[in-house]
Amino acid sequence: MILDGKVALVTGAGSGIGRATSRLLAQEGARVAALDLAEPKLRTFVAEMGPGGKVLPVVVDVSDPEQVRRAVEQVVGTFGRLDVVVANAGINGVRAPISSLGPDEWDRTLAINLRGTFLTLKYTVPHLSERGGSVVVMSSINGTRTFSLAGASAYAASKAGQVALAKMAALELAKHRVRVNVVCPGAIASDIEQSTERRDVAEAAEPVAFPEGNIPLTDGRMGTAEEVARVILFLASDASNHVTGTEVFIDGAESLMGETGLTEDT
Ligand code: NAD
Repeated sequence: MILDGKVALVTGAGSGIGRATSRLLAQEGARVAALDLAEPKLRTFVAEMGPGGKVLPVVVDVSDPEQVRRAVEQVVGTFGRLDVVVANAGINGVRAPISSLGPDEWDRTLAINLRGTFLTLKYTVPHLSERGGSVVVMSSINGTRTFSLAGASAYAASKAGQVALAKMAALELAKHRVRVNVVCPGAIASDIEQSTERRDVAEAAEPVAFPEGNIPLTDGRMGTAEEVARVILFLASDASNHVTGTEVFIDGAESLMGETGLTEDT
């Protein structure tokens, strides 16, 4: 098994990409700390994994420094080490024209998506640095390759910020043999719609859209969380031991078509 003996921490592990990643990393031999804000989702996931599932559920709000600090201490106290961190927790938040987007709405999206990623790195890096490790940051094609998701300025800004943070971290942590990479998925089927609030998005939209075939590689089928998890497994493992500071796009060429006026949340 690729991750035998390793310990991984995954945020947003109760659902979607985080859950699929936690499951795959555990199947490949890692002991996995599954962090999420939603306790019921974590409970369901742990039950699914069964006894001996090697999953430690930890309820945490990634935007709260004290909660993240305590969660990381709990994980390292339980498992004794940390090798892999997947900073995945995120929300779509409010999508609205800039003039009507509230400062609090902007702050909430940035707090969970960008500050949450910073806090996850901040408190795990000292442990990862002990023997080297791998960090995977969950960004998106939005804010990195596409800028056409109407009203998603806060989301796109948070996803762009994650890439800059990850590249700074990759250079800063190279001397500790900690690699930091970013995955940028296109449209992936998950529960993220539930964290989306739309308000007057038509006002922020440009009237351009591909009539069909937004995802060329799959004739429009959205990606799956498992397809993203397999790329994360590669980045988490020694198979990628010379790869750091880079984005990997997982989108079936969706983002290569330019500004397509996509309406899906990615
Ligand atoms: P999801 O809603 O299925 O899962 C997100 C998880 O994060 C949920 O379990 C939620 O409870 C948790 N979460 C939310 N706020 C949190 C907080 N403050 N603290 C801790 N946990 C919190 O969504 P998903 O699609 O699996 O999204 C995971 C990541 O992938 C996000 O960062 C998202 O931006 C990114 N992403 C998703 C897509 C897509 O199309 N689904 C595309 C590109 C990027």
